Amino acid sequence: MKSLWNDAEAAQFPGDLGQRVYTSRLLGRDKTLVMHGGGNTSVKIDEPNLFGEIETILYVKGSGWDLETIEAPGFAPVRLKPLLRLATLDKLSDPQMANELRCALTNAAAPNPSVEAILHASLPYKYVDHTHADAIIAITNTANGRERIEEIYGDSVVIIPYVMPGFKLARLCAELFPANANENTVGMVLLKHGIFSFGGDARESYERMIELVGRAEAYLQKHNAWTITFPDAPPLEKPIREELAALRRELSDTAGFPVIMATHRDAQTLSYARRPDIATLAGQGPLTPDHVLNTKRLPLLGRDVAAYKAAYIEYFEANKGRSESPLTMLDPAPRVLIDPELGLVTVGRTAKQAAVVEDISRHTIDVILRATQLGGYQALPAGDIFDVEYWDLEQAKLRAGGKTPPFTGEIALVTGSASGIGKACVQAMLARGAAVIGLDINPDIETLFKRADFLGVRCDVTDELALQAALEAGAHRFGGLDMLVLNAGIFPSSTPIKSLSSADWDRVMHLNLDSNLALMRDAYPLLKAAPRGGRVVIIGSKNVPAPGPGAAAYSASKAALNQLARVAALEWGADGIRVNTVHPNAVFDTALWTDDVIASRAKHYGLSVEAYKTNNVLKVEVRSSDVAEMAAEMCGALFSRTTGAQVPIDGGNDRVI
Ligand code: ZN
Repeated sequence: MKSLWNDAEAAQFPGDLGQRVYTSRLLGRDKTLVMHGGGNTSVKIDEPNLFGEIETILYVKGSGWDLETIEAPGFAPVRLKPLLRLATLDKLSDPQMANELRCALTNAAAPNPSVEAILHASLPYKYVDHTHADAIIAITNTANGRERIEEIYGDSVVIIPYVMPGFKLARLCAELFPANANENTVGMVLLKHGIFSFGGDARESYERMIELVGRAEAYLQKHNAWTITFPDAPPLEKPIREELAALRRELSDTAGFPVIMATHRDAQTLSYARRPDIATLAGQGPLTPDHVLNTKRLPLLGRDVAAYKAAYIEYFEANKGRSESPLTMLDPAPRVLIDPELGLVTVGRTAKQAAVVEDISRHTIDVILRATQLGGYQALPAGDIFDVEYWDLEQAKLRAGGKTPPFTGEIALVTGSASGIGKACVQAMLARGAAVIGLDINPDIETLFKRADFLGVRCDVTDELALQAALEAGAHRFGGLDMLVLNAGIFPSSTPIKSLSSADWDRVMHLNLDSNLALMRDAYPLLKAAPRGGRVVIIGSKNVPAPGPGAAAYSASKAALNQLARVAALEWGADGIRVNTVHPNAVFDTALWTDDVIASRAKHYGLSVEAYKTNNVLKVEVRSSDVAEMAAEMCGALFSRTTGAQVPIDGGNDRVI
């Protein structure tokens, strides 16, 4: 552990709250300390209220904020006095506590204070830092974790046995901390949960955290439980995308909604999955109870989803009596699979969630292996994990529901998506919650959108092996394919038939027609496995119903593609796959149409640029985004009873109508 404190950087964050923001971000930068909303920090500041009286306000991390990116408004200002009083109550339910915390805010617009707010309040220090450091967990999650912590820290920390986070923990700490703290105390270790440090200023509290966790790391090193090496993973010998899509289908059916399924096959995950003692290691439970909300209590070993579901229902039935109020069972699908052939598979409603599960799982593997080196990993009993998985506040969130975008958990592939209509289709799909695989020959595609739910693949669509590789990469990253948007194509310069070479004809047919056949054929098994039925949208052309002179190859290729789509609609309907076509015309906001080209074409027709752009029945401009919105809608509920349709999007064309 190394302190990341930097005087120049720190000076950019003036005031007590500014300093709190700065060192919170330093903690957040180190994933071995906190991950994805984990951990919390606070500072106590004396401030005058409206009546001029000085009050102590606890600024504590608000829920929904991440330490790494937190800003001043991410700290909820709560009056300290009522919080300290709450800590003297014998009992307080979580919903009551959440209500009391909100009522003690000095800013009605502030986020909900952390569930550890009362605990922060009761520690008599200006700055308080709390993390779920990997090194601490590796030591406390062993059979004699307490003795080891005593050996490492002596009287410099107070040790708190595990109780459920929230009011019970705050209550226990308010009792045990003052009874056990002395002048040497700089921290507090919560067994099987994490560690607190505190100080008079932000730097002192932060650097104590670094120093305390550093001691735990040194202890692990001394006991040969720090460095873990993994042998290289053997490569896969054959494509597995159809197996992956079938597995995702089963997971989605079990969950009751489509899921994103990411496969992580590498040295760490494969050697873990292939350990002879994997059932013992992975069958213990999560590192800290809050992980259960992302990962569920146990991973699925292998791929027997039905057995996992049965075991989950059994676990729910066995533990539901622990709650005083009736509980609604969460979906019984696993979020983590550990498989000797696939390595680690992570599941989420969104690609981002699946990525969070991956991060947690990788840390979990490291910590479990370190604890194993120390003599054996030991997690909390199932009941304690259940209490957090089903605690009131989480159940309330579940009851409140909240609408998710329509394509959440689904996967779309768009060809020719680095610019123009293709790029707009990617945006329309992302906006509807889908994860998207974007294909383009332009290498810019790889960095077009930097987000967990986008995979850009540089790909020449006329290369069948490259198309198959892209489908394979998409299945590893997201789990399969639900929607296919065939957009890539070329519009060659105007050539009359009398001078059209066979080579030019072939080139256009190859790209506009043959490549789409290859992709449809190879995507079919994946689309067939789509949880809600596959969908294909063809970006056709007005030239299909109304061809133009000089565009023989283009018009013929698009017309043939149109027939291909109609036949696919007939052949694939029984598999629940819908195939529909849009016929755009005169979409000028694409790379093809530079301002100069538009101006010269307008002049050619004796029109102003504006009149040329809106030269249709409705006198409207047709933009890439209009075409993309239509393509995306065709994949949605509105078109759920429609296949084989052709919809013009051209502002009305008198030759088509
Ligand atoms: Zn915690």
